[in-house]
Amino acid sequence: MGVDGRAKRFLYEDMTALLTEKGCRLTDQRDTILKALLSFPLTFSPMDLEKLLMTTDPALGRATIFRAIDLFLEIGILEKIHRESGDDVYLVGSVGHHHHLICRVCGEIRDINSCPFEESIHEIMRKEGYSEGYHRIEIEGICGVCKKISEENTESGERSLGSHGGKVRQLH
Ligand SMILES: [Zn+2]
Ligand SMILES: [Zn+2]
Repeated sequence: MGVDGRAKRFLYEDMTALLTEKGCRLTDQRDTILKALLSFPLTFSPMDLEKLLMTTDPALGRATIFRAIDLFLEIGILEKIHRESGDDVYLVGSVGHHHHLICRVCGEIRDINSCPFEESIHEIMRKEGYSEGYHRIEIEGICGVCKKISEENTESGERSLGSHGGKVRQLH
């Protein structure tokens, strides 16, 4: 795991290499959007990306941004994270098969690089006569830092867990 608890997160060069590998052209518009992705160290919503690009490149249309997101998801430059709240968010991809551990308070993402599910999934597939498996599993919880803050607040009489999201994000 890297310093930020993530596997090898794609750099700009990795993303452009993936595009070329999949036979997609690096247009000026795609290049602008790729570079914008790098300014999100954690997850972001389509709205976050749209807002950022509207200030830096107002000429980019909404449809262009969304088409690029779809393409990037398809070729693995971006990963989609399904949140319990129902608001899906995106994350710049990282190398190799991995799973995500997501803090629902501060949004921190950790990669689990060894797959703890491989064996049981293989067993299920074998029983059902399936082959060529692929799975996606995300684990959402409360990270150690957020848990500690919430406990401290409970002691001092404050109760709200969620309102510390922004502050915690800085601490990580
Ligand atoms: Zn947290
Ligand atoms: Zn796995």
